[in-house]
Amino acid sequence: MPEVSDSGIRLPTHSMLGPISSYPKALMGTDGLPYKSSKSSTTPYLIRRYDDAPLILTQLPWVPSSVILEGMFMIMTPPVPTMETMREYAVMLLVRYIQPHYKGGVVQVHVLFDNPGSLPESPKSLEQKRRDLGREKQLAHHQCTKFGSLTRIPEHWIPTLACRVCKKSLTHYLAQDFLELVPTFMPAHNVDQEFFTNVDGDTYSTNTESDVMIRPTFTSNADEADTCIWLHSLHSVGNRILVFSPDTDVYHIGLTQLHGKHVIIQLSKSLKVSPKLLDLNALLDAVEKDPDLSSIPVPLKPQVIQSLFVCSGCDYNFFFRWSRKIKFFVSFFSICNFHCCRSRPNRIYGIHFLES
Ligand SMILES: [Zn+2]
Repeated sequence: MPEVSDSGIRLPTHSMLGPISSYPKALMGTDGLPYKSSKSSTTPYLIRRYDDAPLILTQLPWVPSSVILEGMFMIMTPPVPTMETMREYAVMLLVRYIQPHYKGGVVQVHVLFDNPGSLPESPKSLEQKRRDLGREKQLAHHQCTKFGSLTRIPEHWIPTLACRVCKKSLTHYLAQDFLELVPTFMPAHNVDQEFFTNVDGDTYSTNTESDVMIRPTFTSNADEADTCIWLHSLHSVGNRILVFSPDTDVYHIGLTQLHGKHVIIQLSKSLKVSPKLLDLNALLDAVEKDPDLSSIPVPLKPQVIQSLFVCSGCDYNFFFRWSRKIKFFVSFFSICNFHCCRSRPNRIYGIHFLES
């Protein structure tokens, strides 16, 4: 029974408070790991909000000059049961995800993998510890594999991807094998075609002549592909860029990284079966014309959306246990003029957004 204080207020008992934790309950569990929520709900929210803008396409309006593929999603495709060696798997990914673009006339194809551990301890390390905790059971009987072209396909693919050691070895192998294999899958007549990928923090390219070159212009110290994509978009050939990544982070980062290029994000696994393409320039245009953001200088509007996405929870920032991400978007836009002080338009709740 709750105790009653001298003033007559019923005080909560220990059992009503739940387990005592030194961590903030709105942000972390009793184990000290961050609470996790969904990020993808922002996409349907933005589509509904800007429903008169052509944000979602079902086919590409042009042949891309460059295609950037997030390799971490490519490896979610498991090997076919009849396959025996990893070389067969590498060829399958190449035929499925890379070769059709060269056949269609794309000049550059970039495949980017994460390179974890290249940066010092960061908030992302906490998020990785949370994920690892959930995988302990899955990896109870797991034995690590060092991948090469003759390595036999692991019997259990999902636990292999759940192991950080195996995943790093797998992506390292695939990047190296792609550099060797891709030139034989390029049409010989198009000598301008190039292939790019990253191995151990460096970026390499190859071409129809199988000339492998290190490309410092495309190299950064970012350890995740979702960030590296935008450096590759900036320096890749042409102005028509297709990015394959269903990750919501990617287009929120990209909102401020278009640099005059037309970028389309492939959210669906396939371009042929139920294609879902987000026109990032159309989203930027809709944000810039949003009447609720009228008090914010145009160059800062995409930064406001980006900051809202980051501050309401992502891999580098806390989620809030009792407030879903979308609630922050709905609340922000419902009283936008209150948040965006008209007399000092560069300030939102005291956060200073720098002109880019
Ligand atoms: Zn392993």
